[in-house]
Amino acid sequence: TMGYPVKQTSVYNLIRQILLLHSDNGGKKHFRARYVLPLLQNPYIRKCSPGAAALEKDLRTQNRLYPEYSELQQDELLSLLFSPVKTPYELGELLLKLFSLLSQAIDRTDEPIRDGDDPINETSHANNKSSEAGDERDKEKIQSQEDDNNAVYLPLFQEALFKSYTQVQRLNALLKKDLLEINLQTYKKLLLQILDLSVPFSGEPLKGLQIMGLLETRCLDFKNILMLSVNEGQLPKNRAENSFIPYNLRRAFNLSGPEHQDAISAYYFFRALQRAGNITLVYNSSSEGLSRGEMSRYMLQLMIESGQPVELLHLSSQIKALESSPILISKTPALMQQLYDMYDHTAPNPGSNKHYLSPSMLNTYLDCSLKYYFQYILKLKKEEELSEQMDPLCFGTIFHEAAQYLYVALILKKNGLRHSHQDILASMDNIRTFNRALEIQDSSADRLNGRIEAADLKDLQTNTAYLESIVNHFMAREFFRLKSGQSLPAFNGEQLIQRKLLTQFLKLLLKLDQNYAPFELLGLETRTEEYLDIDLAENKTIKIRIGGIIDRLDKKDHSLRICDYKTGGMAEEASFDNSLFKSDQKRSGHIFQTFLYAGIIKNKYPDAMVKPELLYIHQAAKSDYSSDIVVKYSDKAEAKAKNKMIVNDFGELKDTFEDELLKVIRELFDPQQAFCQTMQLERCKYCDFNKICRRS
Ligand code: SF4
Repeated sequence: TMGYPVKQTSVYNLIRQILLLHSDNGGKKHFRARYVLPLLQNPYIRKCSPGAAALEKDLRTQNRLYPEYSELQQDELLSLLFSPVKTPYELGELLLKLFSLLSQAIDRTDEPIRDGDDPINETSHANNKSSEAGDERDKEKIQSQEDDNNAVYLPLFQEALFKSYTQVQRLNALLKKDLLEINLQTYKKLLLQILDLSVPFSGEPLKGLQIMGLLETRCLDFKNILMLSVNEGQLPKNRAENSFIPYNLRRAFNLSGPEHQDAISAYYFFRALQRAGNITLVYNSSSEGLSRGEMSRYMLQLMIESGQPVELLHLSSQIKALESSPILISKTPALMQQLYDMYDHTAPNPGSNKHYLSPSMLNTYLDCSLKYYFQYILKLKKEEELSEQMDPLCFGTIFHEAAQYLYVALILKKNGLRHSHQDILASMDNIRTFNRALEIQDSSADRLNGRIEAADLKDLQTNTAYLESIVNHFMAREFFRLKSGQSLPAFNGEQLIQRKLLTQFLKLLLKLDQNYAPFELLGLETRTEEYLDIDLAENKTIKIRIGGIIDRLDKKDHSLRICDYKTGGMAEEASFDNSLFKSDQKRSGHIFQTFLYAGIIKNKYPDAMVKPELLYIHQAAKSDYSSDIVVKYSDKAEAKAKNKMIVNDFGELKDTFEDELLKVIRELFDPQQAFCQTMQLERCKYCDFNKICRRS
């Protein structure tokens, strides 16, 4: 006998999403992904549009924050949904057409539609389905449940669709006759208010369980009653005074007041119970939010005054969080073989590219070997999330690329080569060739002179417009993922701040380099690697490729400098001994990375001094900032005897570092050492796998 509120149906949700999409769009050439994605996830849109699921996936993986109209209009339904509208009347027409399309498509289909916007539900549903596929009886059961669900929800959906259609049509009739002058925002608010309706349940009154509101029980007698939510505040309802006449005046003139309403509720309640044989009254004793968890005054009255036998039962469910058990992955022969196949260059593995061990991989392994297993062996990835906020990784990438662009442009210009925007980008795409030309020492024609003078950098620092245009280019490429020909959307406040920050960081970099100049650039984003022969147990030897990408390699006097840019984190000191390799304590992954590169460069140029540096660009504005790496002694006696030392030549630390490095690689290939969870719970806070480990 009760109606179902349209507001709680998926039709209302769909309409709300469409209104949000179009009312936000005033005159732009694109929609915002935050409004597009919920529409593409809507089960009814998915059902009726063949391209919706793939389009949603594409937008996520390509981080398309502001997709253009043409990108979205991939089939009939999507073309309609994502056509821009200018007036409320056009939006109304769009909704009416969409309702007809949906209702036709739903009428045609005999497959069940699952409500709910969460794709995970769909996956688990699919998993459930497939895992139980073998059992015919279960399959039939699921099918019949789905049929039942469909039988209940489909008429509800169709009814809600029909009600909404009528309301939109009436509103559009007023708009057509110019009886309403409103903008899209007002239309959105108005329509959502108008849709505060309910859809009647239909059913056979003499069959099954009847669900009724209190009002509908009038004049009816019941044998069995189950009454829910008999809580104080629900029965009688707490009503706000919706009147301009003050309470005292109402009392004085015998007008109806809240006690009158309470009396009516009391009458309905006691009258409904009057001839019943079995009565069960349920109230919720948990006090959450505004609910105080008290039984209704009527219930209390029954218990004290009625003289009837009343049994008070307490129901509660003990909810316990599942205890997490430690995860340990033993290195089975198959897993060992997988490791050799991936990294050992002596192991035959036709048709597969061997991987190299990068500092990031080793840092991950040292921080948590299980994380390494998840990330690099199982290759698990976090689901792409589309966000209008730039994450630190993207911010860092933009800074790195913009810095590379600046110096490629400068070198091309200084060497009298063509240096248009396209030429610079082409050199960046072909950075290996560019770096090789910088490394050439003789006067051959291919040689690029990498010498940078302070004067080269002075004007660049003040050219804010130029620096901003570089940042714009890489924001378009890395953050907005624009394709060629697509225009940059208007930045929101946060994006404007990030652009300013990136421009500022570029200026700081130029300033530091101006102070450091003159120097000779030897490489930008230089791939550096070497092979290591490693003896394992049982006379087995493996050949590993180790290395990564150095942000910048330059030379001043006789010192080669390895410079790694960082846009986050803190400058830390490293211990002279092996604490860079101890996973059970705080260790600096940044220093580990730079030392690893320094070791490779030192092996390549044994006579040169190799100086690793970490440039924390966000800290570089401090007057006493230095990018030097400082090592200290963790052994107390040694620490007393010697002072901290700036690493000016990595040669002094190289042997200690390499010994420890080999130990780590041997441990990785040790079948007795399982991949296990870190004991440093702090590291789990931001780990992508903390849900698997139950350490979130
Ligand atoms: S959550 Fe913690 S234990 Fe689990 S993989 Fe991540 S870092 Fe390791």
